[in-house]
Order: sequence, then structure tokens, then C-alpha cells
Amino acid sequence: MDIPNKADLLSMLPSELETFIAEQGEAKFRAAQIYGWMQKGVSWDKMMNLPKRTKEKLSEIAEIRLPSIREKHVSKLDGTVKYLFETCDGQFIESVVMRYHHGNSICVSSQAGCRMGCKFCASTLNGLARNLLPSEILGQIIIASADIGERISNVVMMGIGEPLDNYANVIRFLQLVNLPDGLNIGYRHISLSTCGIVPKIYELAEQDMQITLSISLHAANDTARSAIMPVNNRYPLAELMTACRDYFDITGRRISFEYTLISGKNDSEKDAAELAGLLKHYMEARPFHVNLIPVNEVSERDFARSTDDDIKKFVSALEKRRINATVRRRLGSDINASCGQLRYHAQKDH
Ligand code: SAH
Repeated sequence: MDIPNKADLLSMLPSELETFIAEQGEAKFRAAQIYGWMQKGVSWDKMMNLPKRTKEKLSEIAEIRLPSIREKHVSKLDGTVKYLFETCDGQFIESVVMRYHHGNSICVSSQAGCRMGCKFCASTLNGLARNLLPSEILGQIIIASADIGERISNVVMMGIGEPLDNYANVIRFLQLVNLPDGLNIGYRHISLSTCGIVPKIYELAEQDMQITLSISLHAANDTARSAIMPVNNRYPLAELMTACRDYFDITGRRISFEYTLISGKNDSEKDAAELAGLLKHYMEARPFHVNLIPVNEVSERDFARSTDDDIKKFVSALEKRRINATVRRRLGSDINASCGQLRYHAQKDH
């Protein structure tokens, strides 16, 4: 952890910022001015209505940890924008903005790297460098929104990192992004995806935020799941699925199950039947959704995408068992919009 010991202003709630500014002997209204600028992605030098003396004094003891854009790739197919950001201390992270009819969605990173070790995933290739601060998660949205010049109205925490492995910072980020004077993004417009850190799923349920929880399932029995997701050795399916059921019972929010289709590994009709059995056994009559994601082939990883025919058969095997599943549309396929591969290569070349 290589973070200088300055106050992290963008991670503060407005009331905390006000107290901090007052403690420095500055007028309280300065806090609102600084807060407003930060939400627009503006750093000290361009805060026009602040005296130079105040900015100099504050920037010695405090910082605004907005990430900078290092690379930007725009899909010619669907307008998807992928950013490689650099944090103040030289960590690389990625975000993807997806343009839908109902508005712009952003996929944000929660950690620089990841220590979960999923076998098909590029984000975990070099392990975890460090947790992102709330400001650095929020900053991805602020800078991307300023860059495209449009509001971003939906957030998915499905970028690099395991959000529940950076629990406290992620909760603070969720509080910040929801503030009416901030980005004002409603909890119902936010999804958080986890590989299944069971105790944190219970903690999250108790927060009573109306966010959508996505579970990266990817296999329907412990042997298959442990082979591709080491986290399953610690929290096997019985515990994870019980937590999902409890999460629904506590929050009333429908769970979304993610299932990556890997050719010859988990994409047979028998696998579909087993998945249907698992979901029905634990969720019973509770509503849930299944999202099928044809695996993105990562050059460092040896997994192949299922054929279209196998995907179709998998979906109908689920439907036959009255389970609705959607196959995720691949956005930005020409810019390799998923994966964490930009970070991996940027880090290697640095
Ligand atoms: N750590 C969290 C969120 C980040 S990954 C989680 O595990 O849920 C977001 C989703 O992309 C997860 O479902 C993850 O399993 C999936 N994913 C990772 N690598 C992938 C790949 N190569 N192809 C398809 N999906 C992948």
C-alpha cells in the first residue's frame, strides 16, 4: 500500500468534508464549493471560485484522488467506451461505459488486481496490488461522465477486483454515489457482482441498500466450481446458495446468477440440468434471474467459448425446467471491452 498520508477529500461525506474544512480555519461554504467541483471531475488548479491561498494550503494536507485517463477505446460497433485509468500512485484500472436506450451504464473496478484466482479471469493474473479507495471507485464514474459529456445512470461493480474483498470502501462508495448532491445514482440502478464471499453477503444484506446482487456461479457442483474458482473451497455451494436465499428473504431483492459458458467444461445439457436443480433446490419459489456469459477468451488462459449451438441447447435445457435465462449480449467486442486485459498489459509494460 503506497498511499500518501493526505486527507482523501473525495471519499468524505459532505458533513465530514465540512468539518475537515472548518478544522483548517476555512469558511464552511468552501466545503460545498470543493464538493461541487470534485463531483464534476475538477481538481485544485481549476477551482475558479477558491482563493489561491486556500487551495495551496489545502492541497498540502489533502488530495482529490481522481484517476487519469491513460487509454480510451471506442467501439465502432455499438459506442461502448473502455478506459484504462491510472490512479495517483500509478495503479492501472479499467472501466467500461455501455450506451443503452435507457441511458449510460458503467462497469467499475473495485480493486487494482484481484486475489480470488478464478481460472478464466484476466484480472487475477498478477494477484492483488491494492484495494481502491471510495474516491477512486467514484472517480471512475466522474471522469468517464465528464469525458463523454453525459450523465451515467447505472453502475455495475463487475470490473477488476472482488468488491466484497474491499467491503468497507465499497460500502462507502455506494453511499457516496447515491447522494442527491453527488452523482445521485439510485441503489436500484446499481449491481454488485461477487464470486461468493459468504459472510460479506450477510453483512451486505443487513445494509438494506436496494442494490442488485449478482453471484458468479459458473458451475453447479463443488468439484467443478472449486476447479475454476478457488473461493469455492472456502465457501462451498451449500453455504453460498443458502446465503443467496437468505439475501432475498432479508432484502426482497431478486438475485442474478452469472454463469460463464466454457466449451466442454460447464456447457453440456447435463450441466444445465444440474444448474436448474441447484437453483430450484435452494431458491424454491423465490424469483431469480440467470445470466449466461459466453466466456471471453483470454490469451493467457486456456478456455474456449461455447459454440452458438451449445449455448442454444443450454438455454433450452434451462427453459424446459422453467428457468429463464438470458445470454449476455457482447458489447464492444471490437475493443475487447471486458476482461482486465488492458491493465495486465499496461502493468507489464510499465
Ligand atoms: N469479482 C467479482 C466481479 C468481477 S468479474 C465476481 O467475481 O463476480 C465480473 C464477471 O465477469 C464475473 O461473473 C466473472 O466471473 C466474469 N468473468 C471473468 N472473466 C471472464 C471471462 N474471461 N469471460 C467471461 N466472463 C468472465
